[in-house]
Amino acid sequence: MAVSDHVDFNGFMEGVKRRNPYQPEFVQAVQEVAEDIYSFLDTNEEYHSQQILRRIAEPDRVVSFRVCWEDDNGNVRVQRGWRVQNNNAIGPYKGGLRFHPSVTESVLKFLAFEQTFKNALTGLPMGGGKGGSNFNPKGKSVREIQRFCQSFMTELYRHIGADVDVPAGDIGVGGREIGFMFGQYKRITGQFTGVLTGKGLEYGGSLIRPEATGYGAVYFLMNMLATKGQDLVGKTAVISGSGNVATHAAEKIVQLGGKVLTLSDSGGFIHDPDGISQEKIDWVKTHKTHRRGRIEDYCAEFKSATFTAGKTPWGVPCDVALPCATQNELLGDDAKELVKNGCKAVSEGANMPTDLAGVHVFRDAKLLYAPGKAANAGGVAVSGLEMSQNSERRSWKEEELQQMLKDIMAGIHKSCETYGRQGDGYIDYVKGANIGGFKKVADAMLAFGVV
Ligand code: GLU
Repeated sequence: MAVSDHVDFNGFMEGVKRRNPYQPEFVQAVQEVAEDIYSFLDTNEEYHSQQILRRIAEPDRVVSFRVCWEDDNGNVRVQRGWRVQNNNAIGPYKGGLRFHPSVTESVLKFLAFEQTFKNALTGLPMGGGKGGSNFNPKGKSVREIQRFCQSFMTELYRHIGADVDVPAGDIGVGGREIGFMFGQYKRITGQFTGVLTGKGLEYGGSLIRPEATGYGAVYFLMNMLATKGQDLVGKTAVISGSGNVATHAAEKIVQLGGKVLTLSDSGGFIHDPDGISQEKIDWVKTHKTHRRGRIEDYCAEFKSATFTAGKTPWGVPCDVALPCATQNELLGDDAKELVKNGCKAVSEGANMPTDLAGVHVFRDAKLLYAPGKAANAGGVAVSGLEMSQNSERRSWKEEELQQMLKDIMAGIHKSCETYGRQGDGYIDYVKGANIGGFKKVADAMLAFGVV
């Protein structure tokens, strides 16, 4: 029987849907990868016969647990916590923790699946995992957040370890939360190990970790533009989000001579035609992170800007776009609008911000389009470097780390070129990232046999 006869994409996806009911985000992430991997499997029988994709799309385990905590009024609150350990073929499970009311098992499974390919692309020895809770940090006092983090770690600690599974931050989990969780881990186990990344510099954290995801997404964008002999000087950028990834992406765009027009949060987006300068970015960082304020307050501070409630910024004409907020924030029609308005490149700072319809629009239009698993890998890459520094018990210099981040992003770009270049010269970055990430994990799995 010819390979293509039994390489049945539709049958595979039906199985994924059947086994994962009510998990649309997970099914979406698997489908996006499977669309590329199936054409690749056609000529690589062993991956197919050994059911490698089927195995990667079945997490090694999903741990779900109750997290009880007491709020400031003495009420007992109950949340659900998870750790999804997707695959550890090439290294310990690695990936962030997300605290947000939208967190479900489906969301964490999609993130852990994506993380597996992303981590492989970095070239560092990290498997894929993700965790978190439906806890909503918004409006909570610092003491409530501390109690929640401690309770969360009181269960999580038994599932993680520096050589087992190394969580980090994600939406709703920053340096402060990592501090609370690291403190609790150390208190329970009595061990000071590199069990979390994104730590404070005083206790084993790495320089440039906070900047790494946003900067990395812009380095990737630079690499894409360079294939067309272009750079960012004078280019306009539309960015969504206003957290760690978005503000650092904005900062790097400004440093490289571009003009940032927008930022957003769940309430809507601000558009500043004068450009969001470094000084304005610094204001946003303080306002969003320290004061936990709304992006709409930007307009009271900087009169050149307008606020549009309840909308995403994709209708604002631009040269480049960076979705840096969350999954499925850029839909098919938004993608069409961007293409219509002459956008040349899209680099995803968030995980799966573009839905499947949008991905198809970008690929059909032959845009320079980098999926999150390639473009936003800088964050986890520097987490990997934090793990190395912890193992060595030393800290590397900022210049060394900056250079390593640039080199890693260039290396990911190269993999995408290798596996994604089409007959007409177009680089399909989605395909390149999917196949490049898959191949490394798959080859390791083949070496292990049926496990
Ligand atoms: N949450 C980040 C991501 O989506 C970083 C994970 C990490 O540093 O482990 O890649």
